[in-house]
Amino acid sequence: MGKRIVLADPRGFCAGVDRAILTVRTILKSADTPRADGLPPVYVRRQIVHNKHVVEDLAAQGAVFVQELAEIPDAAAEAGIPIVFSAHGVSPAVKAEAAARGMHVVDATCPLVSKVHREVLRFVKEGYEIIYIGHKGHDEAVGVVEESPEHVHLIEHASDVDSLDFQPDTKLVLLTQTTLSVDETAGTITALKARFPWLEMPPNSDICYATSNRQAAVKLVAQQSDCVVIVGSANSSNSVRLMEVAQEGLGERGKAYRVDDASELDPAWFEGLESVGISSGASVPDELVSGVIDALQNLGFTGMKSVETIKENMHFVLPAELRRKPLR
Ligand code: SF4
Repeated sequence: MGKRIVLADPRGFCAGVDRAILTVRTILKSADTPRADGLPPVYVRRQIVHNKHVVEDLAAQGAVFVQELAEIPDAAAEAGIPIVFSAHGVSPAVKAEAAARGMHVVDATCPLVSKVHREVLRFVKEGYEIIYIGHKGHDEAVGVVEESPEHVHLIEHASDVDSLDFQPDTKLVLLTQTTLSVDETAGTITALKARFPWLEMPPNSDICYATSNRQAAVKLVAQQSDCVVIVGSANSSNSVRLMEVAQEGLGERGKAYRVDDASELDPAWFEGLESVGISSGASVPDELVSGVIDALQNLGFTGMKSVETIKENMHFVLPAELRRKPLR
């Protein structure tokens, strides 16, 4: 067989990202722009999903992205301009601030992230201390931990387990960020169970279906490739995990790269190789993957093979705020 591309399936958009982007697009579509008062049709707190192309595209259509609600003028709240919370979720303090300022919130938090928030509240109410495996500073982890900072103990890796100290009479349960590496988390859980054998697991893993499916597919792709390219932004947790999983699968045989788009590819990476694996993070539009495929085809990788591990049919309805009342 000649030089070829090995394409992971599933890859790219998950149901939570699809819903979050559609939320902003729906608001943009129903808005009268430009407004006489000069206000934008919608504000979005933080990146709606962690992909710079998606954010730039929505910004070009009029969405205004802010880091904090404080950047939004009172006039916007008074005019009822929608403010969208991103797919990664927010802390109770952010919700309270929006409510206090009378903002018209449209919450695009992924339902699978909201599930973890609810688990925190339930377990704290039942008297548990929660060990939460996540990435410090990531929007999702910040929102979850702030549900109950005194009872949620964040660790990142197995090496952090020693920093925890609980007595055997402490009710302990484990929760995790949705976009972790399945394998690395299993290692951390083993270390936790060795130290705290009474640690309880949640009813279902918090690592979401999209994360597990994309990691399973890229593992197989890595086995059949000389190198792997992951399309996804540097601040996208699941994209970075995909790159790590691919690198583990490749071992010494080759290298895994992460690029935002085709412009970041370096032809030198592919010299002398026969096969290049490709996958993309859950926040990545497929046209960016198409751009990478085109670039590799121009470098002579004209064969194409798809590695499919599972068919996804997950779908989330739009946020209740969009289903309930018409937007202005
Ligand atoms: S990666 Fe998983 S948790 Fe995150 S938005 Fe997608 S479906 Fe939701």
